[in-house]
This record gives sequence, structure tokens and C-alpha cells, in this order.
Amino acid sequence: MIDRGAVYKHGALFFRRGENVSISHSAEDCVFCKIISREIPADIVAETDDIIVINDRAPKAPVHQLIIPKKHINDLRSLEPADAALMGKISLMAKELAEKLSGSGSFRLVVNNGTDAGQSVFHLHFHFLSGKQMLDL
Ligand code: ZN
Repeated sequence: MIDRGAVYKHGALFFRRGENVSISHSAEDCVFCKIISREIPADIVAETDDIIVINDRAPKAPVHQLIIPKKHINDLRSLEPADAALMGKISLMAKELAEKLSGSGSFRLVVNNGTDAGQSVFHLHFHFLSGKQMLDL
């Protein structure tokens, strides 16, 4: 999935317009794609045909898991209508993770889209956070 305003150069994806960044967005050097293909180890919590769930390496809450579609999608801005079912499956995975929580079962689901929003891995992922009181948004 390539942004219409983007172009590949030397294996990395550069944007012609939109975000003024020149960081790589290719699946070849994507840490989550490498976790999915087992090239890089991770603490896998759950896995389906379409989704993998891992524990975050730098947890921001007692429960901090990442729900990651196996399809390499940069972020929500790169979604296509064909991804609608996949997004539904991610919501259902969040429900499944919530059912395993102790206590109230409260959780927060966060998606960072773009560098300014705090995205550091440019493969769409949903932060599933629970186990502590979180501030109002
Ligand atoms: Zn990827």
C-alpha cells in the first residue's frame, strides 16, 4: 500500500507532498513485518490469520499490548475500503483482550498516525492499554 503522493527511491519511501519526512516506510525494513515473519523475536500474546498481538517493549501501563494487522499498512491514512473487515477484526481482538483482563476490564485503544502524533513504527498498530487510571481525553 503506497500513498499516492509517495515514490520509492533506493528502497525507501519518500513523500512528494503531505508529510515532510524522508524516513523509510517500506515493508522490507519494517520491524513489525519482521516480527510477523519471525525474523525478530517478540513476546506474542495472540495471533490469527490477519493479526498479531505482542507486548510492548516499553510499557506505558501494567497491560500494554500492540494489536498489529499482518498486512503492512503505514497508518490509518493509508486505509482502503478493502481494509474495513480487517479493522473490524482488530476491534474484536481488542474485545477478546479485554475479556482476559482482571478487574473492571477497562482499557484504552490508541493509534498514532504520523511522526507528530508520536508514531515511531510506520506499520499500523493499536496500543491496548489497561491496568491504571488514565487521564480524560
Ligand atoms: Zn510492516
